[in-house]
Amino acid sequence: MSHISKYALTEILVCSECGHPYRRQVWSKYGQKSAVWRCENRLKNGTKASCKNSPTLKEEPLHNAIMTAINNVVENNGDFIGAFRENVIRVMGGYSTKDIPTEYDDQIESLQKEMLFLIEENAKQGAVAEDFDDEYKRISEEINELKKAKLRLVQEKKQADRYEQRLMEMDSTLKTVRPQVKEFDEELVRRLIKSIKVNKGERLRIQFESGIVMEQIVDYYD
Ligand SMILES: [Zn+2]
Repeated sequence: MSHISKYALTEILVCSECGHPYRRQVWSKYGQKSAVWRCENRLKNGTKASCKNSPTLKEEPLHNAIMTAINNVVENNGDFIGAFRENVIRVMGGYSTKDIPTEYDDQIESLQKEMLFLIEENAKQGAVAEDFDDEYKRISEEINELKKAKLRLVQEKKQADRYEQRLMEMDSTLKTVRPQVKEFDEELVRRLIKSIKVNKGERLRIQFESGIVMEQIVDYYD
């Protein structure tokens, strides 16, 4: 697993022009400290960087822009929650727990009976029948295969349970978003946003995990 950084934006904020991630910097000016986000490429290579228009973003207005986008999506898009759920359910699709076939158990049981019968018959005859070994091998291999298949199903079921739990967690996250979240929430941003591309003109292209894509401009008031 990759290290989870302190700032959610470290993982999702990307320069649209050169593709490098944005990095947080703390600037000191006139004794006042302020955080800004800059393209890593620009930080390392200055004017030699391949991106010429990547803006430096002040953290506070950047945070405001992202929270505005989140609030807009949640408020103005009635389908948002539905789409969000659908997205998760689509991921869950391969892990349906409803159709766990119980015939594995029946099959295993009947094969075990078959094997017992084979052993009994063989014992009655008092001598090892010619095909006993082959039969025994065939049945035990079949049982093993079925047991493996059953194990896979059980593992998938467990997987699905975890998704169900995540789905519930996300739902409760969404409930906390409504009606308005003003303050920047690292965890919320981590959960809801997949990536943010920074374009010239302080334009953000925000890709939500749900698939929704939004444009948001970072406003500067000072
Ligand atoms: Zn760049």
